[in-house]
Amino acid sequence: MDRLTAVVIVGARGRMGKTLLRSVMESESMTLVGAVDRTGGPGLDQDAGRLCGMPDCGVMVTDTMDPPRGAVVVDFSLPRATENNIRRCLEIRAPLVLGTTGIDASTRALLKEAAQELPIVSAANFSVGVTLVTRLASLAAKALGREWEAELFELHHRHKRDAPSGTAIRIAKAVAAANGRSFDEVAVMSREKADRPRTNEEIGVMSLRGGGSIGEHTLMFFGEGERIELTHRAMDRSIFAQGALRAARWLGGRAPGLYDMVDVLGLDKI
Ligand code: NAD
Repeated sequence: MDRLTAVVIVGARGRMGKTLLRSVMESESMTLVGAVDRTGGPGLDQDAGRLCGMPDCGVMVTDTMDPPRGAVVVDFSLPRATENNIRRCLEIRAPLVLGTTGIDASTRALLKEAAQELPIVSAANFSVGVTLVTRLASLAAKALGREWEAELFELHHRHKRDAPSGTAIRIAKAVAAANGRSFDEVAVMSREKADRPRTNEEIGVMSLRGGGSIGEHTLMFFGEGERIELTHRAMDRSIFAQGALRAARWLGGRAPGLYDMVDVLGLDKI
């Protein structure tokens, strides 16, 4: 059997953290070596197995990242924690899978800097399906050209803090870049008080929040007399965990660099 990938889950007590813990414990190719959550939060010093509704596994939830050498850190916590987590990974030389969304420009700059020394996979959405839809969006935009109007909407559960979703931005960026536009120049996040018709250049990105939806993204291309829709619906949080853990296994022994799921899946070759 191949060597087991040792994994530390950061944000262990969260919705994603618990899903990741369960997936690692159920996996035959990975072993859990750490579970981290914020200082002072509930659930510290509890067995990570019990925390996620599995049998005790002997790994306690702590507030410090102190894994054995070679372990991969999988961080799905909150943006305000990301900077410290990246710095800690640099200190302990740990490869990082970063799933936290909504991180600011300075943290993103630190991430790029850290990737000169560590292999890092960062993705706004670790779902294999969304990664493929993003690639298809780029191919479609290229084939259809600027004459086709592109609009995108996303729907997420009521707890989501950032809007539009990182995934929506990623898809819209792929559409913009496919025919030479800059997302920052053409993205329209609200049409309130716009008082003008749509321009051909713009890409509308609209957010809905409510209920328990794990995440839906629909990209529409409008031509004269026809419309194309590309939709992805996440039915279960475990799709992100499965993708992130696939990335963690892929990272083992990789050269330093900032990778995304397109690299993990080898989609850049199609
Ligand atoms: P959540 O609020 O349920 O969990 C966040 C957890 O992080 C909490 O347990 C919190 O205590 C913990 N935390 C806060 N500060 C911390 C610190 N300094 N160190 C360690 N842990 C800390 O949120 P969630 O729904 O699990 O989502 C977590 C993040 O993952 C969000 O940014 C979300 O947008 C993102 N997410 C990404 C993907 C993806 O595919 N990239 C998919 C789903 C969610």
